[in-house]
Amino acid sequence: MKIALLIPMYNEEAVLPFLWQETQAVVQKLPQETFEYIFVNDGSTDGTLAQLKTLAGQHPNVKVISLSRNFGKEAALSAGLTEAAKADAVIILDADLQDPPDLILPFVQKFKEGFDVVYGQRADRSQDSFAKRLTARCFYKFYNALASRRLPENAGDCRLLSRRAAEAVLLLPERERFMKGLFNWVGFRTTGVPFTRQKRRAGKTKWNYWQLWNFALEGLTASSTLPLRLWTYCGFLVSGFAFVYAVWVAAKKMLYGNPVSGYASLMVAILFFSGVQLISLGVIGEYLGRVFTEVKQRPLYLIDEKINC
Ligand code: UDP
Ligand code: MG
Repeated sequence: MKIALLIPMYNEEAVLPFLWQETQAVVQKLPQETFEYIFVNDGSTDGTLAQLKTLAGQHPNVKVISLSRNFGKEAALSAGLTEAAKADAVIILDADLQDPPDLILPFVQKFKEGFDVVYGQRADRSQDSFAKRLTARCFYKFYNALASRRLPENAGDCRLLSRRAAEAVLLLPERERFMKGLFNWVGFRTTGVPFTRQKRRAGKTKWNYWQLWNFALEGLTASSTLPLRLWTYCGFLVSGFAFVYAVWVAAKKMLYGNPVSGYASLMVAILFFSGVQLISLGVIGEYLGRVFTEVKQRPLYLIDEKINC
């Protein structure tokens, strides 16, 4: 069987030698399979591409897809999948060895048992910071409460996809690609393999909390329209209260006349409901912005160079 290892790379020159050594060591434990590497250079500005080119020169099973600029991990994965879907299965790994290459063994084992999707489940995230674990936990809880299809908790992008699962992901045409959601959407026989998330071996993380927040928003809006519909129910509720209140105000006026007062309650109501309206507008804006990106139909990424492909 031919198995492709898909690894997105953005400024990973520090970690690439370790990555190569360790994956090679694991790959050699499975001599009956043919492995190929698909490195996607996501617009690195350091020596990553040069190193990849050297590797590709020495090993014909190293393929490199170099994008024209940094498009983000999701786009890089999509670019790699187009090439990787030619193999029998594709395994997605992070370059920084946070997803240990040892996972390849149980992944391939499960694939042979007939699973189409095998995801790595982070059983132990003690290597991640407390804040990161907390925010990740909140995200999965919130996402699963809203989305129609549950995401397995603490499963990252690290996974094996059979060819048909990879092809199915490629069929999805959206521009805003929340890959975890897409992998999850396609279904097929799925299982998880628990593992301990390692520390980044070298180099720096490419994410800050603002980016993670936006990524979370993208994931939510891509997978659920509940935040939009919520305002309908909110509107019904408020109108119900308003009606009851109106009846009460009218009755009071008829019974006792109208000594003008109520500045405080008026102010509170105006401020509160302007807030609510702005929030609901904001939610609509989130979706509208995404519709805008979709209708523009721009390509997900542009390829600068392909090596050994
Ligand atoms: N990555 C990428 N493009 C980006 C950012 C990240 O291809 O714009 C790759 C990066 O090289 C690594 C993987 O995505 O292989 C995960 O990135 P990172 O380790 O920085 O994320 P973290 O593990 O901190 O969430
Ligand atoms: Mg990492």
